[in-house]
Amino acid sequence: MIEKERFVPIRIQKNHALLKRIPKNHPKRPDIESDQTRRLAGYKGEQAIDFYLSKLPEKEFLIFHDLRLSNGRYFFQIDTLLISASFALVLEVKNYGGTLFFDPDFNQLIQTNNKGETKGYPNPIEQASQQSAELKKWFQKPNFAIPVEFLIIISKPSTILKTAPGYSKMLQKVQHAQFLLRSIEKIKVSYKNEAMTPKDLKKITRMIIKEHIPETVDILKYYGIPPDDIQTGVICKVCSSYPMKRHFGIWYCTKCQSKDKDAHVHALKDLFLLNKNSPLTNQEICRFLHLPSGDIAKKLLTSMQLPYSGSKKGRVYFPPPGYQQIKELE
Ligand SMILES: [Zn+2]
Repeated sequence: MIEKERFVPIRIQKNHALLKRIPKNHPKRPDIESDQTRRLAGYKGEQAIDFYLSKLPEKEFLIFHDLRLSNGRYFFQIDTLLISASFALVLEVKNYGGTLFFDPDFNQLIQTNNKGETKGYPNPIEQASQQSAELKKWFQKPNFAIPVEFLIIISKPSTILKTAPGYSKMLQKVQHAQFLLRSIEKIKVSYKNEAMTPKDLKKITRMIIKEHIPETVDILKYYGIPPDDIQTGVICKVCSSYPMKRHFGIWYCTKCQSKDKDAHVHALKDLFLLNKNSPLTNQEICRFLHLPSGDIAKKLLTSMQLPYSGSKKGRVYFPPPGYQQIKELE
């Protein structure tokens, strides 16, 4: 059963909002674009294993996607975590293509693409093994002694896996996605004792959901982009030009003449994604949406039922609940 769903990672959403709202020739655009390409490919790889996970017996496994937990000072991130009554399994998903050589001497991964170009990465086996060790530590807090296993899942079926002679054992932890279920079956055989009662499983589920810390990054600061570089206004979803103009409760595009009642909803999401602090004042929203008055802004925000705190001039608005829980980019 899926206890925590997979959504478009927040960093991808922030990059997406940023790319929509900086000029085409912005000097930071190439950096953001290449980061975005890499992250989108990673997300696609993670989505690719969902097909196999959907074939697992639903009652036997709890599935948590995209977790970020902490043992104190540092966070550890897990792409997918499976928990049964007998063991926990950390899945680290890699979307690398070409040929992958797991180099035991230098503990790194060397990727050779179809053009013969090589690129080095940290060894994902090492990475997943550290995450598992952290998770084991984390489980000790509520006093659960559940064995933790890990697997590196290569999402592209065409990727070739290699290692140095005598090290093939090392690749036991690395599997193509289509063999995921077989690998889980193998692990199941070695953990027959139930370490967790149904009550424990409920407790651990509650804890994981509660202690998951969503990534919060000030994306403008991260790229060193001054807030003034961000193009404000409501974007026309038909022709992508902006700002749209509001007349009698409707947004009009001056370029393609299309009309839209709810175009401000997307602009507001962009603003929440790009903004450093999540609550926004009426004035900030007014400015970003190019609204002629605070009263109109207030009317719009009320119609959106945006959560707020404070009254009158001190009122601040919070993002709509769950606005980051999307399956596809808009
Ligand atoms: Zn338009």
